[in-house]
Amino acid sequence: MLVTKERRPAIRSLCGWAISVLQEAGAIRECETHGWMQDRADPHARDRAFDIARQYPPDGLSVAMAIAEIEDVLNSVGDTCPECPPDC
Ligand SMILES: [Zn+2]
Repeated sequence: MLVTKERRPAIRSLCGWAISVLQEAGAIRECETHGWMQDRADPHARDRAFDIARQYPPDGLSVAMAIAEIEDVLNSVGDTCPECPPDC
């Protein structure tokens, strides 16, 4: 391609991209107190996240790689914030 188009600011990392997709889909949320990502265990939200990854993979990334990255982040995110008391 001859023309480099201006795009939205690049997301810092692939992991950051996957987190932003998962948050957009509502599959994970951030602990308001500590900033840890929490898995909301919502299969429909996960499906939405995978749909987004399929339709809008990051620049230079194949759809399969984008989906693998989403799975990686989901696997690394717990369903509770490690710093919150259990009834947080
Ligand atoms: Zn917390």
